[in-house]
Amino acid sequence: MAAADRAAGAARVHIAQAAAPHELPKLPYADNALDPVISANTIGFHYGKHHQAYVTNLNNLLKDAPDLAALKLEELIKTTAANPNRAGIFNNGAQVWNHTFYWNSMKPGGGGQPGGKIKDRIDADLGGYDKFKAAFHAAALGQFGSGWAWLIEDGGKLAIARTGNADTPLAQGKKCLVTIDVWEHAYYLDYQNRRADYITAWLDKLVNWDFAAKNLG
Ligand code: MN
Repeated sequence: MAAADRAAGAARVHIAQAAAPHELPKLPYADNALDPVISANTIGFHYGKHHQAYVTNLNNLLKDAPDLAALKLEELIKTTAANPNRAGIFNNGAQVWNHTFYWNSMKPGGGGQPGGKIKDRIDADLGGYDKFKAAFHAAALGQFGSGWAWLIEDGGKLAIARTGNADTPLAQGKKCLVTIDVWEHAYYLDYQNRRADYITAWLDKLVNWDFAAKNLG
């Protein structure tokens, strides 16, 4: 390939990135890797349709907000969180980030009790694994309507949080460790209305404690 062609190709790539600043990240595993807890069918819709739609919507909205288009996703979320005039950008941006965080909060063969520093911190801050599990399950089950449950670090202590719709503890500067999506689209194809069963299976078989430890730092 001639140098001029390579330069033209690079320019086209640059223009494409400028027009669409956010991309759908690759899944950290195959779409059937979480089966049977979460089926490839659910992943196909949830990642391939819902997560993709948040990315597409965000990029479209940013065409009319050039002041925000250059921000990294985390900064975009913090910047727009308290601004009702930017609700569409916040909602779609936060959902892009929340979903990427959710995929990484799970792994094939995950779940059960953590070890290492996450175990130590759950023991010290949350009264041990059994109390953590009951409280996390209750938070995820009790989120009315759509939203998320989280293990976070807040003020130097681990805590359980829940957020509605697109909201995320990241917007308040909290350190997120893992999250479970409790929007119906996350579980309805596999569990129908049985959110409690989805949460139990997620805790017992999917939660990625390595990711939590990495986020705790
Ligand atoms: Mn979702």
